[in-house]
Amino acid sequence: MLNANIPAGPLKNKWTSHKSKIKLVNPANKRKYNIIVVGTGLAGASAAASLSELGYKARVFCIQDSPRRAHSIAAQGGINAAKNYPNDGDSIDRLFHDTIKGGDFRSREANVYRLAEISNHIIDQCVAQGVPFAREYSGYLDNRSFGGAQVSRTFYARGQTGQQLLLGAYSALMKEVAAGNIELHSRTEMLDLVVIDGVARGIITRNLVNGEIESHAGDAVVLATGGYSNCFYLSTNAKVCNVTAAWRAHKKGAFFANPCFTQIHPTCIPVHGDYQSKLTLMSESLRNDGRVWVPKNKEDKRAPNAIPENDRYYYLEEKYPSFGNLVPRDLASRNAKYVCDEGRGVGATGQAVYLDFSDAIKRSGRKTIEERYGNLFDMYQRITNVNPYKDPMMIYPALHYTMGGLWVDYNLMSNLPGLFVIGEANFSDHGANRLGASALMQGLADGYFILPYTIGHYLARRAAGQMDTSPKAFRDAEQEAKERTELFLSIKGSRSVDEFHRELGRLCWDKCGMSRNEAGLKQALEEISKIRDEFWKSVKVPGSGDDLNQSLERAGRVADFLEFSQTMVWDALHRKESCGGHFREESQTAEGEALRDDENFCYVAAWEFRGVDKEPVLHKEKLDFEEVELAQRNYK
Ligand SMILES: Cc1cc2nc3c(=O)[nH]c(=O)nc-3n(C[C@H](O)[C@H](O)[C@H](O)COP(=O)(O)OP(=O)(O)OC[C@H]3O[C@@H](n4cnc5c(N)ncnc54)[C@H](O)[C@@H]3O)c2cc1C
Repeated sequence: MLNANIPAGPLKNKWTSHKSKIKLVNPANKRKYNIIVVGTGLAGASAAASLSELGYKARVFCIQDSPRRAHSIAAQGGINAAKNYPNDGDSIDRLFHDTIKGGDFRSREANVYRLAEISNHIIDQCVAQGVPFAREYSGYLDNRSFGGAQVSRTFYARGQTGQQLLLGAYSALMKEVAAGNIELHSRTEMLDLVVIDGVARGIITRNLVNGEIESHAGDAVVLATGGYSNCFYLSTNAKVCNVTAAWRAHKKGAFFANPCFTQIHPTCIPVHGDYQSKLTLMSESLRNDGRVWVPKNKEDKRAPNAIPENDRYYYLEEKYPSFGNLVPRDLASRNAKYVCDEGRGVGATGQAVYLDFSDAIKRSGRKTIEERYGNLFDMYQRITNVNPYKDPMMIYPALHYTMGGLWVDYNLMSNLPGLFVIGEANFSDHGANRLGASALMQGLADGYFILPYTIGHYLARRAAGQMDTSPKAFRDAEQEAKERTELFLSIKGSRSVDEFHRELGRLCWDKCGMSRNEAGLKQALEEISKIRDEFWKSVKVPGSGDDLNQSLERAGRVADFLEFSQTMVWDALHRKESCGGHFREESQTAEGEALRDDENFCYVAAWEFRGVDKEPVLHKEKLDFEEVELAQRNYK
């Protein structure tokens, strides 16, 4: 059993008492420590800025040309906090309970309580930075509702919350860069982690502009490299999102936790063709006012506005009257699949449902709806050429977020001393299903408020200045990275990297997507091996390794997805229960809801790498619930 190092004492005091007991680094000594932070999304940028403000030196890496182009910038809907400004009964306790229940009781209670506790500080921090959250007439910050909650606790900046939050974190980061406390390496990709005597000591990077491979040593390494939804090829994530950093760390000994816990978001623009490379999210906030429906009659091919009220099936409102259209994402997604599988789906492919704003426009007026969601409506119209003020949107579920990630303890340190993992890259606080607007909350909690304390506890026990890149482990890892690059370029096959990625993605979606079963998962394991073998025989990577070469970059990332995806499938295969986003067809209630098996699966599954194509070793972290009573989730 893995030890998560959860502090003793009552749940509500754990974080406060932990902070007052953990070791501190003397202010004058902080500048002697150099911390490597990989990733400049909300988690990485907030962490690097906070560490630097505390006095540590940091080196920060990201793939994009600017830190503020990290994928976090795409977040639309909002960020949760238990401020209770609308006075509708919210509290830290309620946010905690909603998150635990939303995650289908597969998250660590102590972490989730801490997250709820910190949520309010995040809002204060961001307001102080000048993040322009929406305000109501009184001047208070406005709130709206998201799935899985019966209070309004989501703070937002129109449909651009991630962008505004990232500009705040980016400004804090760049202030420290300008002050000379942070060294920034953009357009630089981490290709490996260097571990010496079981301790994370540095990273190997490739300069994406000139191809140079370099070693960087540090006193600690922080990975904030985001999630792996792009394993499925089509997802709402930016094209550049990948699993490489986490997977390389895994291959060097870091455990990968709950990789099969992936989130499929119910409101995305449906797939429209074979050569599409990305899917577009329509924020969950739209379910505040949009009503989801399909025609009652499968043969009904009338235009949506010609279908009268009585002939419409508002399936979420009917099945889940207390939460209606605001059920959690896993339920909304699965139910969209069910109605489409029954033949009620709409649009050219039959793989879509309506999201209809006509009632909301009648009730509140077009101007109000425009103020709330204007940019999302514009985006929808630009992509589909349909005006959602007049006709309902068409939506379908798509891969969106990954609850799985590298295993970390309460201090956000992996099982490898010196390797910390934050934001979407860790296995996070969201259990088997994340509630909307809580990823931004977790990334910023990790970066602004947790890591800056807990990393000190680790550093205080180590001598500062571990900057030596001469050990052989660095040379070996550099050599391996160079050889791999050369290998990609030398294959000179006939199939593009994207072709393999698309094939892998389709397989993962079919066999390890919205629902999974034993036979399909076993088949996926075999087919992934075949695709991977074929990849190494016939991939074509044009160009050279000495300059900007996006095919080469993608080849590395897809090669890692081709290894990682098997671990995801192994995890899905072993977890015979259904929970949250992981729906095993063999384990469902009579009503088709996910059926957990608390007796056998109430644990975090953390996998240890044993070689490509070899089943990894399972380590379990038992989940103990002191405060919460485990129950079948009910949103009816
Ligand atoms: C369309 C969309 C809308 C969303 N809306 C919301 C919302 O409204 N509310 C909410 O709470 N959540 C939302 N989410 C989820 C949320 O945006 C993400 O979970 C969160 O932003 C992840 O932040 P992060 O800092 O962990 O990672 P990211 O923002 O993904 O940043 C990853 C960073 O790591 C770097 N990186 C990655 N690999 C490497 C490597 N090998 N070497 C060097 N650098 C590397 C990247 O360059 C980048 O800087 C949304 C997600 C999507 C896709």
